[in-house]
Amino acid sequence: MNTNFTDGYREKGARKKLVEELKTKGIEDEKVLAAIGKVPRHFFFHENFWNQAYKDIAFPIGEGQTISTPFTVAYQTQLLHIHKGDKVLEIGTGSGYQTCVLIELGAKVYTIERQEKLYNHTALMLPEMGYKARFFLGDGSRGYEKRAPYDKIIVTAGAPTVPEELLKQLNIGGILVIPVGDQKLQKMITILKLSETDYEKIVLDTFRFVPLVGDKAW
Ligand code: SAM
Repeated sequence: MNTNFTDGYREKGARKKLVEELKTKGIEDEKVLAAIGKVPRHFFFHENFWNQAYKDIAFPIGEGQTISTPFTVAYQTQLLHIHKGDKVLEIGTGSGYQTCVLIELGAKVYTIERQEKLYNHTALMLPEMGYKARFFLGDGSRGYEKRAPYDKIIVTAGAPTVPEELLKQLNIGGILVIPVGDQKLQKMITILKLSETDYEKIVLDTFRFVPLVGDKAW
C-alpha cells in the first residue's frame, strides 16, 4: 500500500475500464459505479503490484487478509442503497477500499477491524488520502454497540450465521448486508428491518470471503 502514487491518466483510464467491466457483470447503480470510478484502488497496492489494482480480483493485504474484488465491493455497496448522510457500520475495515467507496457515496462510516496491524495502517492512510471515517479496533461480530443505531451495516467477511446483535443495532428501515455460509463459500444476504420484531430477508449470489473471526462468528 502506498499513497505516494500519482493518480494520472493511466490510472484514471484503467479505472474507467474497470467500471465498464463491472457494468457488464451486472452492477447497475450509477452512483456506485461513479464511486468506484473515483477511488484510486492502486493506492492500496504496493507499487510492484500496481498492474493488479484495476483487475477484478482480490489481493493479499497482509495478516492473511485480502482486499475484496471490485465486483464484490460494488455488489455489497449497491445492496446497501446508501443515501447521503447514512450512518454506516462496516465490519472488517481491511484495506479501507470499501470504506472509501462508502464515503464517496456520502455515508458517515464507522468501521471496525480486529487485526491491529491493518487497523493501524488503514486508520493512518485513509485520512492522508482525504477520506474521513471513525476507525475502531476490535471484534465486530457483535457490531459496535457504543455508536449504535446504524442506518446500514455491511459485513466484509464470511459469517456462519447472522449475529442477533447486528439486527438489534440497526434502525428501523435499516439494511444489513452480510455473507453467510461455511468457511469456503457464502451466500450474500440482505436483511431489511421492518420493525423491532419483523425482518425481510433475501438470499442472493454465492461469494468467497475470508472468515469473520470472533465471539459471534468463527
Ligand atoms: N472491504 C475490505 C477491503 O476491501 O479491504 C475487506 C477486507 S477482508 C475481505 C475482511 C476483513 O475483515 C479482514 O481485514 C479481517 O481481518 C476482518 N475481520 C474478520 N473478522 C472480523 C471481526 N470479527 N471484526 C472485525 N473485523 C474482522
